Formats: sequence, C-alpha cells, structure tokens
Amino acid sequence: MLYIVSKKNKRFSNWARNIQQHVEQIFYPTSVEEVVSIVQRCKKERKKIRVVGSGHSFTPLACSREVMVSLDEMQGIEEINHEEGSATVWAGTKLKKLGELLHKHGVAQENLGDINAQSIAGAITTGTHGTGATLGNLSTQVLEVTVVTADGNVITSSQNENAHLFKALQLSLGMLGIIVKVKIKVIPSYKLQYESKRIPFSTCMEKLAHYKSSFRHFEFYCFPYSDTTQIKCLQPTNAPTTKQSVIHTFNETFIENGLFYVLSMACRMLPSLCKPISRLSASVIPSTKKVHQNFRIFASKRLVKFHEMEYCIPAEHMEVVITLIKRTIEAKKIAVHFPIECRYVKADDIWLSPSYKRDSAYIAVHMFRGMPYASYFKEIENIFLEYDGRPHWGKMHTLKGKSLQQKYSMLSSFLKMREEMDHDGMFLNTYLEDIFHMSPSKKEEKPVEMITTNQR
Ligand SMILES: Cc1cc2nc3c(=O)[nH]c(=O)nc-3n(C[C@H](O)[C@H](O)[C@H](O)COP(=O)(O)OP(=O)(O)OC[C@H]3O[C@@H](n4cnc5c(N)ncnc54)[C@H](O)[C@@H]3O)c2cc1C
Repeated sequence: MLYIVSKKNKRFSNWARNIQQHVEQIFYPTSVEEVVSIVQRCKKERKKIRVVGSGHSFTPLACSREVMVSLDEMQGIEEINHEEGSATVWAGTKLKKLGELLHKHGVAQENLGDINAQSIAGAITTGTHGTGATLGNLSTQVLEVTVVTADGNVITSSQNENAHLFKALQLSLGMLGIIVKVKIKVIPSYKLQYESKRIPFSTCMEKLAHYKSSFRHFEFYCFPYSDTTQIKCLQPTNAPTTKQSVIHTFNETFIENGLFYVLSMACRMLPSLCKPISRLSASVIPSTKKVHQNFRIFASKRLVKFHEMEYCIPAEHMEVVITLIKRTIEAKKIAVHFPIECRYVKADDIWLSPSYKRDSAYIAVHMFRGMPYASYFKEIENIFLEYDGRPHWGKMHTLKGKSLQQKYSMLSSFLKMREEMDHDGMFLNTYLEDIFHMSPSKKEEKPVEMITTNQR
C-alpha cells in the first residue's frame, strides 16, 4: 500500500450540520493510483467507503462510519479540447475554482446552480441543477466519467466506451465507484446580464410562460404570507462588466445574509414573527441589474444555514403547485419565513435524474437551522407527490423503497447494475441501504447519526 495522507477518528458533519458521523479514517489521495490502493485495501479489510465532495448534501449520502475519501487533493483541469468543446477535470475540483480555471481557457460550463462550493463529482452525482428551460442539470454536461470500481479497476465510460454504464454513471449517488475524472461539455466563455426585481405573485403567475421562454435563465422566489415575488432573469450579453458597487456588496452581504440572519434568529425565538418578517424580507428585495462573467453571476453567498427539501415536478404544474404551497402555508399557519425557490430544467435521459424524460419545474422549501421543519416539509411533500414529484437526491425527503421505484422508472436497472459492480456493497452506507430497501451487508453497521432536534 502506498503512503496516503489520512486522518483517523474524525467527525464528519455536512454544511447544514444535520448529519454528523464519527469516521474511522478519512483518506486524501493525490492520484488515481492512490485511489485504487485505498479501494484494494478496503476490499481486503471488508471496509465500507463513501466519497465526500464538499459535504453540501442535506442527506447522509456521503457518510461512512468506516472509511471516507476526499478528493480535495485531486483538483484542476487535465485537458481542454476546444474543437470538441470539452474539459477533462479532476473529480475533486470545486465549482468555484473550475469556473475560474475554465475562464482562463476562454470556456465555461453552460449552466450552474446557485452556489459554487460543491465539487464537480458531488454536483453531478446528485443531479445538481440550475435554472433554464432549455438547459439540463449538471449531470447532462458530462461526456465521459473515469471511475475506480469496487474491484480496483479503472473504467472510463462515455456514449462510445463502456456505453452500457454511461447513463447510470452520469448520476450515480456514489454507488458505482469512486469517480476520479470527468470530461464535461464546455462552451465559449460568456457574460450574463442579471436582473432581479419584485413583482406581484399574480403577475408572476400570469407571465410564467413568457419569462420561462424569454430568458436563458429564469427563477423566482415566493415569500410566505406576502403577495410579493422576486424574479431573477439572466440573459447572455456583450455589454461591459458592471463594477461591483459598495451598495451591491452591502446588499448581498449585509441585507441578504447579515440582516436575514438576525431576522431568522428572531423567528427562531418567536415563531409568530415569521409572517411579518417574511413580508418585510419581500419588501426590501432590491431591484438590481448587473453584468458579469457567467460563473460570477450564478453563484450567490449562502451564509445563513438552513434545512432544505426540493422536488422536481412536470414543468406544466409549476403554477398550480406553487399556488397550493402558498395557500397551505397560510391556511395551516406554518411558521416559516424563508422564501420558496422555483426553477426550470430541461428533460434528459439519465437513469436517476429527477428530470428523466420530462421538462421539469423544481420547487425548494427551506427552514432556518434550529427551527422545526419536519411537519412543514411533510405537508409540502404531500403536495409534490400529488403532482408526480421526484425528490432531489441531495436534499431532504421521506421516500423509500417502492415509492422511489415508482418515481424513478430506471431505479431497478440501476440497482441491478450496482449489484453486479459492487456485490459486497463496499460503496453503500446505512442510509442508502435503508432508502433502497437493501438488506444490510454488514449487520453490525450502526446507522448514520442524524441530528434530530427540532424536527417536529
Ligand atoms: C447552500 C446550498 C445550496 C445548494 N444549491 C443547489 C442548487 O442550486 N441546485 C441543486 O441542484 N443543488 C443545490 N444544493 C445541493 C448540492 O448541490 C448537492 O447536494 C451536491 O451533491 C453537493 O455537492 P458536494 O460536492 O458537496 O457533494 P457531497 O454532498 O459531499 O456528496 C454528494 C454525493 O456525491 C458523492 N460523491 C462525491 N464525490 C464523489 C466522487 N468523486 N465519486 C463518487 N461519488 C462522489 C458522495 O458520495 C455523495 O453521494 C445546494 C446545497 C447547499 C448546502
């Protein structure tokens, strides 16, 4: 075995801190050879492995009690192919760094989510998405995946090579092996004009089809108990880059994060304040216009911690579902002040993608960390399920077994492939065994610790 940097007896916790896990050993490999060596050793010692990206998932996907692997030392670009429009990237590369590196080569990812802290492998592995009715999620940008499998082999898969694995590897929940490299589609670098403004909820609903088709990226936020909606419209432009004004930095850092944190603390202490605070938050959303490089526009600062559930529904149900959610919050007097985020994503053909074979609307509900979220999320989840919702893999949901099989028609093919590639369940943890109703491969494995305070 090579000498590989590792830390013993560490405590893993995710971004939202709702998942905590004591881990026997976390490895930090620096090469494919080292990843192979870790897998071979774990196979011999019958240890379970999970890979962690940036730990930004709200579910215990990345946890293992025995061995975790971080690819933080495997970041950067291996190759750019301008003719093909592709970049081959080390799997641990953080999206922020990737955006900057690609830009130096005059290229960019065609779309991103609303933060850039994730690793590229973590993002594609859960089907992370941005918004844009003509654009797929980040997994659709993948052209080729290189993975270290449970038997220590290094396999490359694309539409042309090991093609039978490709649609499963584009979004694999880390269950088919350790992704070490991905080749992604890139396009020439572009600037975006960002415009954010407040409009009445009724106007937003009337003009949904217009906004969705008129802008490359369109999303909106509904504020509970308020008739105000924030819309964000992004369009490619050649206009000069806007200088970041002091006012904008103040708004982003102080109003969107600092002040919102203080208001959230007030809601936590006195939940009856949620209603006026949500209305207040809606009323201070500034009207903003700016132009910048794509990767700088997509990412926003998220300094206030929360729990989140997000479902994907057929795109045509956006209006009815968001209207029902607003009504439910008001009718049941649910103490929530976080806005509800609504986005669009194009259909794809990736087995475990929530957008599999249907143009999709994604709706996400949030709750400030430390405030009860379970009953709120359950109420809203019931609405999503009525409208054929499929859960986002990286966010909270309560589906398991048959319910997941009904939602994801290719799930049984995926699980069969997993069984063939990893018969001993090396890349499983108790969470995955539980949601996919697989019998535990090791009886003594303890479940992942979920922080359950304030779940009510
Ligand atoms: C503040 C915040 C904002 C977010 N915004 C969005 C958004 O706009 N859109 C959206 O869709 N989601 C969003 N998410 C969810 C997030 O994008 C996903 O949960 C994503 O998976 C996190 O990436 P990560 O690198 O942190 O992966 P982790 O959470 O660390 O891991 C996720 C999964 O990837 C696996 N994995 C990681 N690396 C590898 C590898 N090399 N090989 C095999 N498997 C691997 C892990 O085992 C795990 O199963 C947000 C989350 C937060 C906390």
